[in-house]
Amino acid sequence: MHELAITEEVVRIVTDKAAAMKASRVASVELVLGVLSGIVPDSVSFYFEHFSQGTPCQGARLDFVRVSAVARCRGCQHQFEPGEFDWTCPECGHLGADIVAGKELAVASIELE
Ligand SMILES: [Zn+2]
Repeated sequence: MHELAITEEVVRIVTDKAAAMKASRVASVELVLGVLSGIVPDSVSFYFEHFSQGTPCQGARLDFVRVSAVARCRGCQHQFEPGEFDWTCPECGHLGADIVAGKELAVASIELE
């Protein structure tokens, strides 16, 4: 999967931030991760340990904030949490919805030492 490239980017972002703040060590990193992003947290943790070697991120705690999927019905605009394979609107029974949330992948916050 693309966890490798994404995690490399996360380490780069956090390392740049730490350098800008003149911090020598990052205590923790909080990542927002939508359930539709297709990213496996365990893989990110694994690559994070690898890429953080020799950077201020080394030894930092990695926290994940999972964001649930939210869909908006194209029929009645009702927002609901869609099933994995069926996005039928629970309000009006219409099948056809747009993703409102759940594809996020972002560095939400970092804690520096
Ligand atoms: Zn609807």
